[in-house]
Order: sequence, then C-alpha cells, then structure tokens
Amino acid sequence: MAKNPLIIGGGLAGTEAAWQLAQNGIPVTLAEMRPYSKSPAHKTDNLAELVCSNSFRSDDKNQNAVGLLHEELRICSSLLIQCADQNKVPAGAALAVDRDAFSKTVEAKISAHPLITIVRKEITQIPDQNVIIASGPLTSDALADQIKNFTGEESLHFFDAIAPVVYTESVDMTKAWRQSRYDKDTSGYGDYINCPLNKEEYYSFVNALLNADKTAFKEWEKNTPYFDGCLPIEVMAERGIETLAFGPMKPVGLFNPHANGQREFAVLQLRNDNKQGSLLNLVGFQTKLKIPEQKRIFRMIRGLENAEFARFGSVHRNTFINSPKLLNSYLSLVKKPNIKFAGQISGCEGYVESIAIGFLAGTFLAAELKQKTISTPPETTAMGAILKHVTNGNANGITFQPSNINFGLFPPLQTIENRKKQPKGRDKKILLAQRALNDIQKWRNNFVNQNL
Ligand SMILES: Cc1cc2nc3c(=O)[nH]c(=O)nc-3n(C[C@H](O)[C@H](O)[C@H](O)COP(=O)(O)OP(=O)(O)OC[C@H]3O[C@@H](n4cnc5c(N)ncnc54)[C@H](O)[C@@H]3O)c2cc1C
Repeated sequence: MAKNPLIIGGGLAGTEAAWQLAQNGIPVTLAEMRPYSKSPAHKTDNLAELVCSNSFRSDDKNQNAVGLLHEELRICSSLLIQCADQNKVPAGAALAVDRDAFSKTVEAKISAHPLITIVRKEITQIPDQNVIIASGPLTSDALADQIKNFTGEESLHFFDAIAPVVYTESVDMTKAWRQSRYDKDTSGYGDYINCPLNKEEYYSFVNALLNADKTAFKEWEKNTPYFDGCLPIEVMAERGIETLAFGPMKPVGLFNPHANGQREFAVLQLRNDNKQGSLLNLVGFQTKLKIPEQKRIFRMIRGLENAEFARFGSVHRNTFINSPKLLNSYLSLVKKPNIKFAGQISGCEGYVESIAIGFLAGTFLAAELKQKTISTPPETTAMGAILKHVTNGNANGITFQPSNINFGLFPPLQTIENRKKQPKGRDKKILLAQRALNDIQKWRNNFVNQNL
C-alpha cells in the first residue's frame, strides 16, 4: 500500500480531491480516460468538463442551500470554486461560468502542481492501494464491473428514478392527514401524510399529466429500462385513465378525517425522506415531467397547493452506489477502507455537490495519510448535510436516491418539541445559513490548526 494515492476520474470531484491531497503535501496520481475512451456526454478532453449547463446555480449564501455550499467551499479553499469565481459570466443571482475557460483554468492548475501526475488512461482494475473512485455518473463499463465486484450487484445503480420531494412545513394539514394504510404504522402517529382527490380532481390531474411537457431522453439514454416498480407516473397514466387510482394512488385502507372518515377516490401518499421528518417524498411519483410542469401539476393535488419543492423528480442515466449501506462517514468502503468514493457516483447530485464530496474525500485521505484525526464537518453545515445524506442517508440504504443539497437535509434550528416556535420560510433559511457559516469556519480553523 506504499504507492501514491490514485484518483480515478479527472472530473469535478476527482480534480478537487487531487488538489486537496497535493496541497497537503501528498503526491497523487490522477487518471482520466478521455481522450482515449469517451463518455457518452463529455465533448472535450478537458479535465473538470461541465457536461451540460454552465451554471453552478444560485450564489446566494444567505437564502439558498447551494449558494451556501459555494461559500463554504470558498472558506475551505476549494480549487474548483476559486476557478469558477475567476471565470464567472453575468447570470443574475447565479454563479455561471465560461465553461471552456473554467475547465482550462482547472486543468492548468492541476497540471502545474508538482505533486500531481496526470495519467490519461481508462482504469479497468481497482489496484490494491489508496484509491478515490470519482468516475462520475457515466463511469466506464469495465470499471463499473469492478465496482460491482467490490460492492455487490444490488449496490450499484445505473439509473435514477427520482420522485419529487417537498418540505413538510409547506403541506396544508387542514386538507391532508396522517395515517398508514389500514393503520399499520411503525411511528405510532401515522407513517404517511395523505393528500386526497375526489373523482373530478383525479380526472383533471390525470388529464394534466397526459398533456404535460416531458423531458426527452438523450440519444444515449434511450435504452433506459423502466422497472415495473418505478415507472414514471405519466407513463402509468398513459396505460389507462384509472391506472394510477389502482396503483400508487390507491385509496384503500385510508379514511379522510376532514370528511367524516370517508374513503377518497384517489390518494397521494407522502413519506418521510429524512430522519428529521422535514422532507417528504411523493410516493411512486418518479417522473420525467419538465420542472415547471411538476410544480403546476402536483400543486393541483389537495394539500399541495403551496408545496415547496426541495427536489424535483427525474429519470436519467446515473451510475451510483448504495452509499449509506457501503460507506463509512469518511467516504471509505466499510469492507475495504483503502477505497473511497467521491462525486456523483457516491450518491450526491449536481456539480457543486460533487465538488464538495471531492473536497472531503481528498481532505479525509490526506488526514489519514498524515495520521491526523479530523472530524467530519458538522451536519449543520451544507458540507456536513450532503456528506450525511451520502454516508448515512435517509432510508438506511433501502430506498436511497442521490440528492442535491437543500435546507431539508439540515437539522432543525430547535428541538422537535419546540418546532412550533421555529421561524419559517426566508427567516428560517437565513438562520440556518448563519449557523452553517459559523460552524464551517470553526471546523475549518480546527483542521488548519492541525496543519492540514
Ligand atoms: C448528461 C448529464 C448532464 C448533467 N447536467 C448537470 C447540470 O447541468 N448541472 C449539474 O449540477 N449537474 C449535472 N449533472 C450531474 C453531475 O453533477 C455531473 O455529472 C458532474 O460532472 C459530476 O461530477 P463527477 O466528478 O462526479 O463526475 P464527472 O465530472 O463526470 O467526472 C468523472 C470523470 O471520470 C472519467 N472516467 C470515467 N470512468 C473512468 C475510468 N474507468 N478511468 C478513468 N477515468 C474515468 C470521466 O471521463 C470523467 O471525466 C449531469 C449529469 C449528466 C450525466
């Protein structure tokens, strides 16, 4: 195990991880398969290529969780956020970049670092040394097979089938109610929140689904398999007007207390998506509807008229591991701690989140190799919240799906008993962001003081 650490993948997470190791005095090899092997989405040979949008999303550190993550990365001296700031283009409140200049700046910095060796080749075998796998959502087939050998067939996924997630506090409980089907619950107060639809509402909802604007699959995604358990709802709706009412929206065993306990024509069930109960998953509502259509159509459902979305639904190609089951809090495989995962393959979603997990994987490995003990960033920070989602996610590895950073992943400001007194909306976000910025600064000072 004496060899330099190897990072597989010179994308957003891999380059950030390499930089953090090198800045800590550790020589590192960064392997990137392009240009010799191509991914279906990358178009250039550049390191840190942005495969789609040129936006890192909102840069508002006070009210937006991803803007807060930008600021935390600045505080922690992330290379990629610095390169993004240097190559900013006008984009209102968003941090958008000149994509080519951004990647070229990252590549120039990485290439010039005396402790980083870039190797242009596809890694098909995971060597027995310290490795960070940062090969992204489009990991090459040969490497995916190797990962499967280490993690088990059922632990590697090739597609997201994501249902939208809404903030619990935005659901109107004067219309919705808590109950598990036939009262079979485990929490003692109803594991699900139920949103009712009468016949007329249900028919309007299904008609809206049938006529909605959908996102098309990219050419190379066209063979996306639909598994029976996770068909997009609009595909189910096409199979018959009442298919949903007999499927994910079946009303059996549910009785509406706001209507004298009557059985409804159809019901949408919402299930906790995190342990704090601040986020709710729209059960069975994985979808390829365009985002404005998701907002418009799901808000037609009683109780969701003012729903605030923490995540929108999607179905797309994405290689990711069942990280809460496989990884420890320092992003290492529990069964093979010399292997860490970073970036989208580790179960986060998005450019900035991938950079953050790359930063953490590089920093944690540097600490291990320098035999220093550092804590993980507190859950109250955006870095800590996304790390926790990845390593200790919402559903104990049973229904794990990747996530963007959002305020629903943060612990509440006060204890659950005092939740009624909590500020809401904008005020709550400002307080969560202030707490995060204080806490990340303390965490950062702590490991800088340790000479890391
Ligand atoms: C088509 C598509 C569009 C997306 N659009 C957006 C968007 O607009 N906004 C957003 O926030 N997120 C988007 N994402 C999600 C995600 O944030 C990005 O994919 C992001 O680039 C992930 O960073 P990463 O470092 O994990 O992977 P990548 O940036 O993809 O880097 C992985 C690198 O590993 C290399 N590699 C793969 N296998 C091997 C191997 N065996 N050996 C050596 N190298 C290998 C690849 O060539 C690649 O350079 C998109 C994802 C996809 C698939």
